Amino acid sequence: MTNLKISNTLTRTKELFKPIDSKNITMYACGPTVYDSPHVGNARSLVIFDLLFRVLKKLYGEKNVTYVRNITDIDDKIIDIAKEKKLQIDQVTTNITKEFHLACNLLNCLKPTFEPKATEHVNEMIKMTESLIKKGFAYVNEDHVYFAISTYKNYGKLSNKKPNDLKAGKRVEISNLKKNPLDFVLWKPSEENDPGWNSPWGRGRPGWHLECSVMSEKYLGKIFDIHGGGLDLIFPHHENEIAQTCCNNSNEKMANYWVHNGFLNMGKEKMSKSLGNIISINSAIEEYNGQVVRLALLSSHYRQPLDWNKDLLEQQKKTLNKWYSLYQDQIYLEKSNDCFDYLLDDLNTPGYISKLHELYNDASKGDENKKNSFNNACRLIGIFNENEIKWNKYKKKSVKLTEKSIMVKINERLVAREKGDFELADKIRNELDQEGVLIEDKKNKTEWKYK
Ligand code: AMP
Ligand code: ZN
Repeated sequence: MTNLKISNTLTRTKELFKPIDSKNITMYACGPTVYDSPHVGNARSLVIFDLLFRVLKKLYGEKNVTYVRNITDIDDKIIDIAKEKKLQIDQVTTNITKEFHLACNLLNCLKPTFEPKATEHVNEMIKMTESLIKKGFAYVNEDHVYFAISTYKNYGKLSNKKPNDLKAGKRVEISNLKKNPLDFVLWKPSEENDPGWNSPWGRGRPGWHLECSVMSEKYLGKIFDIHGGGLDLIFPHHENEIAQTCCNNSNEKMANYWVHNGFLNMGKEKMSKSLGNIISINSAIEEYNGQVVRLALLSSHYRQPLDWNKDLLEQQKKTLNKWYSLYQDQIYLEKSNDCFDYLLDDLNTPGYISKLHELYNDASKGDENKKNSFNNACRLIGIFNENEIKWNKYKKKSVKLTEKSIMVKINERLVAREKGDFELADKIRNELDQEGVLIEDKKNKTEWKYK
């Protein structure tokens, strides 16, 4: 047994992780709805569950963890965007899926074991809907099929709310075809030109929640270890997944541990497409670098909110510039390191990162074994995936000043110093520092280099 502790939304406590089968750890994380470029809010979820995947692999063995992250490629939002942009549905989903995969690579996220697409599992979704109707948990009304939440006694347990306190509205469709406003759609009819599949209830398409119930069960079984996603998915998405799966299988549970990451905010508001305050992952990476973005996403504890701003990114860039001075291409793998305990404690990444700073300071005194340990510890959280040459290229590219303008600034500083205006001289030095240029005063001249 290992001593991994993880916060479980279902019990609202930090629990010792006990797998169902230590030879096959099973984890499902809700993947993207591929209708628009993924943003750094989505990236937070991606990186956090990638980290958990890495930790589980380290604890239970490379081959003993099955991680499923789905792709939602059928959804009203996709249909709306395709209409708006006058594109075919699969053009939208193929392009955005490609973009998503590129972002995953640049963020150094490992490939999940399975990445099922909703459109490839519609038959199983029809079967589950039929079964739920037969067992009395769902009803048909005008070609729609709804799940009746009144049939499930534990509805609201995950979000810790009584059904009366939960409200239909955002992401819970309001419709007079429902017996209860919180009943949710399992199947709905499609307009003639919209994507649809033949079913006992006419041509239509599945509801979003049903997709994850079907795909998780297919790849992980009726009860699995961990189910993850962002905080916004607790209600209604995960609540509804639990209701469908538990009712259909007559089980008390769908997954043992429900893990949710906090929001990534921009100016104190959740980054989201609907608020319009988004930065796409790929544009953040273009401006900075995948590793800078990854380290920024790991800089605060996954359950806490994280504010996305320039200072945060500049800070990570500075840190990585420093750390890269100890980068080693060839390392020997170590079984454990001094900081791993932080990750075992509910993925305490801020603790891990501060320990990395200590390891860096210690290793920079020259001990080769310590350098090796430091390199191991960086790689464990998915940092140092680019070699030094690539990093230096990025570093140079990210310096916005040309060599000529650097020289102009250095001369301005010399003049200021000659005049005794040390305040101005310091200001110029700081400005250059901010731009990634380090200056050093030698006997008769000032030298500079990229940081
Ligand atoms: P979606 O494509 O909207 O279903 O989101 C994919 C994943 O990203 C889900 O796990 C969401 O909870 C998560 N997510 C979306 N926005 C944010 C945000 N601003 N902060 C953290 N996670 C988010
Ligand atoms: Zn899901």
